[in-house]
Formats: sequence, structure tokens, C-alpha cells
Amino acid sequence: AAQARTQAAHGPVHLADGRQILVVANIGSLADARAAVASGADGVGLLRTELLVLDRDTYPDEDVQTADLTAIFDVLGDRPIVVRVLDAGGDKPVTALDLDPQHNGFLGVRGLRYLLAHPDLLQTQLRAICRASVGHRVSVMAPMVSVAAEVVAFRAAVEQAVVSLGESGVPFQAPDEIGVMIEVPAAALAADEICAVSDFVSIGSNDLTSYTMAADRTETGVADLLDPSATAIQRLLDQLCGFAVASGTPVAVCGEIAGMPEHALGLVARGVHELSVAPVRIPLIKELLRTQG
Ligand code: PEP
Ligand code: MG
Repeated sequence: AAQARTQAAHGPVHLADGRQILVVANIGSLADARAAVASGADGVGLLRTELLVLDRDTYPDEDVQTADLTAIFDVLGDRPIVVRVLDAGGDKPVTALDLDPQHNGFLGVRGLRYLLAHPDLLQTQLRAICRASVGHRVSVMAPMVSVAAEVVAFRAAVEQAVVSLGESGVPFQAPDEIGVMIEVPAAALAADEICAVSDFVSIGSNDLTSYTMAADRTETGVADLLDPSATAIQRLLDQLCGFAVASGTPVAVCGEIAGMPEHALGLVARGVHELSVAPVRIPLIKELLRTQG
């Protein structure tokens, strides 16, 4: 019976109104991928690729990146996977890239900004993702987007990687979908423009809260301000989910708020269809949605 309950816990979640919610995992390593599967994740809503390279002395080349991703994708099998391209800078100083903390700080050349400024780095990563994707369901997602023009540039980069792989003759699979993190207040406020050029969006409540409250998430002295219940954050969530739903753009949440029981139900009530949480929280969130959703 215990076995049967575990199996059931691993199944899909439906709300009382019949709507299906995906409860997926935030991962940053092969061990996390195994933990996600063991805890019944319906997939991966955020693979933080910077965590695969954070402590390396030398930056991995395309073949090494392909091998690292293949190992993770093989654990996940046919579950949907969202791979976020490198989110370097700010609180993520990728050692091998030798980032200047002044230039690449919280308000500097970080996330997608850094990748668009270093197109070879982005092409290498996109090619590795596509090569590892064969036989899997993989989408790509850009971090730290502020305006729609950045999304358009990201889409062009994905297209370029796909064309170059097609010409090279190596096996690859183009991404299922191209999505965007909404974690900068400007992107939340103009979510209609972002949605118009994105296949899906995923709310990064950690950075969204931090930037909205002007409170560094790594600074313990301002931790009290990083409360997603704050009126400003709730209004932003209302507005941006409204834009996403109105445009028919699937909206996920991959920030910490998705795994907080006091917030998860409010998110799905706003039309969020996917909650991406730490693997350890998956059973808890599935149970919450099944019993109260
Ligand atoms: C976020 O900012 O909410 C997020 C999910 O991204 P990260 O925590 O990796 O910055
Ligand atoms: Mg973030």
C-alpha cells in the first residue's frame, strides 16, 4: 500500500477544476536530477547551468558541456526539461570567466546581457544543449531579461545555433520552446511585450523581489524586505500573470515562492500552470495542490 501511495504521489496533479499543474524541479547538478526523479518531479522547470561551471578553473568546451548535459538528460528521460542558459554575474561569479565584479555586478553585464555581449560563449552553450537534447524534450530559457528586444536577440542566437548544427552534420535536436525568466521589474511591468515574443515565461521571484525592493538577496541585513507577501510583489504578480494569461502564454514560477505552501495556491489561482521547486519540496507541493487546489 505504501508503494501504491508513492506511485500515486508521482503522478500528475489535477486541481478540483480539472486543470493540470506540473510540479517540476529546480536542479543544478546530476545529483539534483536523480533527487528530482526520486521525489516524483514531473520534469525540470529550471536547470541552472551556471551551477555546472561555477567552481571550475577552466571553462568547459562544447564537447564537455554536451557530455555533462547528456548525463543529466538521460536521468530525466522523457520528462520535459527547461535549460536556462548561463546566468553569470551578480551573485554568481563564474570563476573560469574571470568576471569583474564592478562591471558584472547586480546592475551590470550579467545573465543574458553577458551572453549577448559574448556571442561565441552563447553559441557554444546552445549547440551543446541541442546536441544533448536528442531523444529528450528540452526547452531553453534566458535569464535576466529586461526588454523584448533582448528576447528577439536570444531567439536569433538559438536559430543561428540550429542552422550551424544543421550544416555541421552532427546529431542534434532543436529546442521544443524558447522561454524567458521574468525576474526584472521592467520585464514584469512590460510582460505583454515579453510574452509577445516568448513561447513561455517563468517567474523568478527571488530576483524579482530583490530588484523590486532594492534589497540584495545575499545581504542578511535587509532579509526582512525580501518577503513576497509585500503589496508591491503581489501587485506585480497579479499584473504579469494577467498579461501572460491574456496572451495565452504559459506562465511558470521557478523562484522560491513556488515552493512556499502559503503562496503556491495563490499562484495557480492566477493561472500559473507549472511550479518549479527544490526536489525535496515536490511531494509537499503536490499534496497541497491535490488536497486544497
Ligand atoms: C530567481 O531569481 O527567482 C531564480 C529562480 O533564479 P536564481 O535564483 O537562479 O537567480
Ligand atoms: Mg534569478
